[in-house]
Amino acid sequence: MSSLPLMSAYELSRLIKNGELSVREVCENYIDRARRLDGSLHAFNTLCPETALADADRIQKQISDAELDSPLAGVPVSVKDNLCTSGVLTTCSSKMLADYIPPYDAFAVKKLRENGMPILGKTNMDEFAMGSTTETSCTGAVKNPWNTAKTAGGSSGGSAACVAAMLSPVSLGTDTGGSIRQPSSFCGVTGLKPTYGAVSRYGLIAFASSLDTVGTIGRDAVDCAALFSIICGHDKKDCTSAKNFRFDFNKAVSKKTEKKRIGIPEEYLTGNISPEIKSAVLNAAKILSENGMEVDTFSFPVSDYAVSAYYIISSAEASSNLARYDGIRYGFHADSDSIDSLYIRTRSEGFGAEAKRRILLGNFVLSKGYYDAYYKKAVRAKQIIADKLEEVFSRFDVILAPVYPRTAPDLGENLSPAELYTADVYTVTANLAGLPALALPCGFDGEGIPLGVQLIGRRFSEAGLFNLGRGFQLITDYHKRIPEGGRP
Ligand code: GLN
Repeated sequence: MSSLPLMSAYELSRLIKNGELSVREVCENYIDRARRLDGSLHAFNTLCPETALADADRIQKQISDAELDSPLAGVPVSVKDNLCTSGVLTTCSSKMLADYIPPYDAFAVKKLRENGMPILGKTNMDEFAMGSTTETSCTGAVKNPWNTAKTAGGSSGGSAACVAAMLSPVSLGTDTGGSIRQPSSFCGVTGLKPTYGAVSRYGLIAFASSLDTVGTIGRDAVDCAALFSIICGHDKKDCTSAKNFRFDFNKAVSKKTEKKRIGIPEEYLTGNISPEIKSAVLNAAKILSENGMEVDTFSFPVSDYAVSAYYIISSAEASSNLARYDGIRYGFHADSDSIDSLYIRTRSEGFGAEAKRRILLGNFVLSKGYYDAYYKKAVRAKQIIADKLEEVFSRFDVILAPVYPRTAPDLGENLSPAELYTADVYTVTANLAGLPALALPCGFDGEGIPLGVQLIGRRFSEAGLFNLGRGFQLITDYHKRIPEGGRP
């Protein structure tokens, strides 16, 4: 029993199907761990032990009756708190939605239920997914399981910490500008930001609709791929959902690694990057090249525009998406005697500082006098970046890049918004171009905190990225190490 959390989600499901483990005992084990360990991590906003166990018994019956054919049947999962769960609080870590209980499931959540995965709880995050450390959460920051004085990253810090500390075998996160890949790197787990449109955004509380994606976090590429195979697919309720995407799960998890041409952007290794990360990324490139991959560098000067374009576009969309929180229809409501003061008080008290900063920035770049100078220019820069990447992918199959220029900051380090924003330079490009990207553990810093590398591919090349990521994990063991405090 005690070694159970060390097993991969895929392995757990196999043992459940064989009858060697019951869904209930697996679920109870994780609930017990979450109760014991989450006090010091704060990875969860909400735990749902009763519904998880009731679901476990129902799922057990379906598995015993051979009614469920799913790679993760019976495996419990945690879900980021910006994905709607019917009957369960969905707060976005914001006072604005602190009491919000959705009457419906997000598409990805519905898929979890259909595939027999009990939901353990909702994970802590930056408020409305805006941030890089979960310190903008109205419930307080998530702590890094490798060192509780450090941040777990953000915005999906709760999901990444859950998987790293084995409070849930796998987790759903969201990535608008790096929010799956960066916390996955800080916590030493594997995370996929899918192609825009590969997973429906129905029921995902919107931050920046043209960039938002729902993705997966697991301890290795196989678990991430298995969860992705469950949540991807067309959904007519999301008009940006891809119609003809078929994910080749067998190729993704095959032990035979396809040969790939891998390119590294030169600019990513010469800018403001910590020497430890640079050497870990180059070491990952060396390992891949020694194992049959062609590796070369290329020049990518347009990456200079990425952060500005991302913050202008994402804030513009956020200002529009967050306009719905007016204290009238749902969410937090401040008592007032006039309509103006109702709006002002509700929004002043309901949103935290970072959400307000994005709303102000978004309104500014969309305003009449500045629209052309900022928003329109940012959309042009986005297109230039996408075009350049198209060219890059005629020469290479995969881009190998750092995830973040530095290792996990200390909690309370008080980084300025400008410092935090510029550090998103390696992750936002995949969102601007709608490309899939897989973050993998690739080393540790001098303090024993994990470091990550990302593989970025062509649109809908998830199976190829997983195949390469799995190949990397077959010959390395960074993903197998676990944090001391989290040991079973
Ligand atoms: N750091 C990025 C931001 O604050 C990440 C956002 C995300 O991917 N949700 O906007």
